[in-house]
Amino acid sequence: MSIIDQVSEIYQEKFEHTPAHIARAPGRVNLLGEHVDYNDGFVLPAAIDRATYVAFSPTNAPHSTLVAVDFDQQASFSAETISTKTQTDSSPLPEWSLYPAGVMWSLMEENLAVPSMNAVFASDIPRGSGLSSSASVEMAYMIVWQTLGGWTLPSMRRALLGQKAENEYVGVNCGIMDQFASACGVENKLLLLDCRSLEWITVPLPEYVSIVIADTTVRRKLTSGEYNKRRAACEEAVRLLKQDLPKIKSLRDVSVDDFNRLAHKLPEEVEKRARHVVEEIERSDQAQALLEASDIRNFGRLMNECHASLRDLYEVSCPELNVMANVAQAIEGCYGARLTGAGFGGCTVNLVANERIEDFARVLAQGYESETGLHPEIYITRASNGAELLK
Ligand code: ADP
Ligand code: MG
Repeated sequence: MSIIDQVSEIYQEKFEHTPAHIARAPGRVNLLGEHVDYNDGFVLPAAIDRATYVAFSPTNAPHSTLVAVDFDQQASFSAETISTKTQTDSSPLPEWSLYPAGVMWSLMEENLAVPSMNAVFASDIPRGSGLSSSASVEMAYMIVWQTLGGWTLPSMRRALLGQKAENEYVGVNCGIMDQFASACGVENKLLLLDCRSLEWITVPLPEYVSIVIADTTVRRKLTSGEYNKRRAACEEAVRLLKQDLPKIKSLRDVSVDDFNRLAHKLPEEVEKRARHVVEEIERSDQAQALLEASDIRNFGRLMNECHASLRDLYEVSCPELNVMANVAQAIEGCYGARLTGAGFGGCTVNLVANERIEDFARVLAQGYESETGLHPEIYITRASNGAELLK
């Protein structure tokens, strides 16, 4: 049964009528530009064909009731309970409900109407694997309240308000990339976002290649501590480099040449972290021209370099991700392979020639399993549209 049928059926059983609407919001995979969104760099994600689906209807009740099928739980909250992060019965909101409740909170901060509704939702995006299940939940609920609230916001505004919800309500210090890709995705296109100006364009992916996602099944959460340490190292590098480059505002403003000239002034760990960012921004700056010229060979080489840099300089990889990337890079027909998302577990992203896909998936799964003893999940994905109302 499709997820749409599943959420519709559960909605019908629970609320005793057919849901008025269905919203969908995808996960995302990032091909290049990792850990640069919070350094004002360029990122190159695509929305994927895995998504969160919400079946919903307006209600006259004073509160909204949400059923999370994947957690087998429900939560109820209203405008009155939102600021205390509690339910209508005064119990604390369960963790998963902070994402939709955070969306409601950030819309209320904008004085936008957030009418009460009943909803049932589920997703086929694996959680905590680097494919941004959290942003997909947020962007799906943006569509829910936009549908019921009688207002419309441009997709980038919805992304920014979703990021605000995750930063300030859920308490996760993420950049803008995840919500952007889920809100703004375009079928069969990669999205190139300038995280400083928030300007973005679509970039073609040649038809003869596919995006393959390989899930290590290892979930070593990038503890917020490790993530914050990386962010702090980047800020420290900017502070120190400012002595010689007074005009810089972020690592985006530092060229590779300037960095090489001044790198000796930085403490070793700060230098490694900042070098990843400066070189990764340089790599992602080359992406557009390579993709527009269909030069997938050189684009894939940049993906491989990105993986090595995340492993050796930014130090956010793990043994399983390294096995998955190494095995893939050696398989015929694979142009590039690297860890995607924040790191420390989760998935790799691979660009593979269409005619080699089946062999690639088989050889990768065998190679990974024989080195780690773990059974990977491998899926071929397509770039999809961003968050939308299906019904
Ligand atoms: P990811 O990299 O997948 O975004 P996060 O840790 O940022 O990982 O977000 C995962 C959290 O998002 C889950 O713990 C849960 O709270 C929420 N979430 C994601 N998918 C769902 C879902 N299908 N149903 C309910 N909550 C979800
Ligand atoms: Mg997330």
